[in-house]
Amino acid sequence: MCLVDSTAMHVPSLIARKRDGEELAAREIQQLIAGYAAGAVPDYQMAAFAMAVLFKGMTLAETVALTRAMLASGDCFAHRSGHPVVVDKHSTGGIGDKVSLVLAPLVACTGCWVPMVAGRGLGITGGTLDKLESIPGFNVRLELAEAAAQLERLGVVMIGQGARLCPVDHQLYALRDVTGTVPSIPLITASIMAKKLAESLDRLVLDVKYGSGAFMRTKKEAEALAASMIAVGQQLGVEVLAVFNPMDEPTGRAVGNALEVIEALDCLDGGGPADLRACVLDLSVLLSGGPREMLEKLLDSGRARRKFDEIVAAQGGNPEDLLCLGAIHQAPLIREMLAASSGVIAKVDAGLIGQAAVQLGAGRAKACDGVDFAVGFDRLLKVGETIHAGHPLCRIHARSAADFDMAGALIAQAVVITAH
Ligand code: URA
Repeated sequence: MCLVDSTAMHVPSLIARKRDGEELAAREIQQLIAGYAAGAVPDYQMAAFAMAVLFKGMTLAETVALTRAMLASGDCFAHRSGHPVVVDKHSTGGIGDKVSLVLAPLVACTGCWVPMVAGRGLGITGGTLDKLESIPGFNVRLELAEAAAQLERLGVVMIGQGARLCPVDHQLYALRDVTGTVPSIPLITASIMAKKLAESLDRLVLDVKYGSGAFMRTKKEAEALAASMIAVGQQLGVEVLAVFNPMDEPTGRAVGNALEVIEALDCLDGGGPADLRACVLDLSVLLSGGPREMLEKLLDSGRARRKFDEIVAAQGGNPEDLLCLGAIHQAPLIREMLAASSGVIAKVDAGLIGQAAVQLGAGRAKACDGVDFAVGFDRLLKVGETIHAGHPLCRIHARSAADFDMAGALIAQAVVITAH
């Protein structure tokens, strides 16, 4: 239970001091977050605070205090003695990024434990939880004891922050999503590190994305974000490694919740797009410490796929549904978008594709919005591929002809074709 001493804290002054670039004390940050978690600090004050942090930043000491306060809002996994190595990866967010869906079961097959606490779609980027929930019945809100029991049994569980694990991140994440306060290094650091520290990890690998479809637009910004998370990890006792991956074009060929699960299943069956498989393998090698050839075999032999099916069954879904997910979530209008000219694909702007996916309904405009599992894009061409005029650039899955036209206009802007 959280005790909030509201007399000790005058929230408007605290917001104003952050707005003016002052460093706040750890105790003040702790009180603010505890107050927000307890409902004593309303959303509008927290949104103003988040905006002040976005503009003025935080020192490492403040970011550590924010992470600790968010972690303290809930419980942590308490692994039994003699447990296997506990690992996880976290992406800082991208378009078409379904890596976690493949990586978690794959790494669990190597004998590591993967207690993955994932997030929902944020801004234009998709979220692992929304994708998992496109599988009918899949429950991402397990009690901590249930999650721990599944981890012991299967070596992997995929859940969200919630009533028991980092509940305040659940609130703040949704608030930031709709108040333009996502791309702040201290806020992203605390949000990710608090969730990951609640997993009581031995090792965390960060997939730090940069480019038009990521919160960090340049590699330099991505390096600053990674440095912030590594420094917080060091102070709070978890080994953090960072890998940098460009997010100028979407990962794979599918963007949208169920469409991305279908593509992840292809990868778990040993196929799927080359860039997705490469990213999964790069991160899995680092996490598990196992040889790449062994991990490739786990994908190609179907073992990782069987592990995914076990996760689905354990968390309330039916693995049989995975065979017909496209039919379960069929958008009213599925139509090809045709190229206006011939040549080589020079660019597929991930930011514009992400924006189009959100406008189709795959993401949220307001915190309380649901997502449409069926809409999005698939069969998207990749940079370097050849296209002929009149041939498809991708398929658009839309609710209506008007939505198709809106997404088509954004795709036409996103895809740049250069003549041979
Ligand atoms: N992923 C998270 O979990 N939190 C953020 O703030 C951004 C990406």
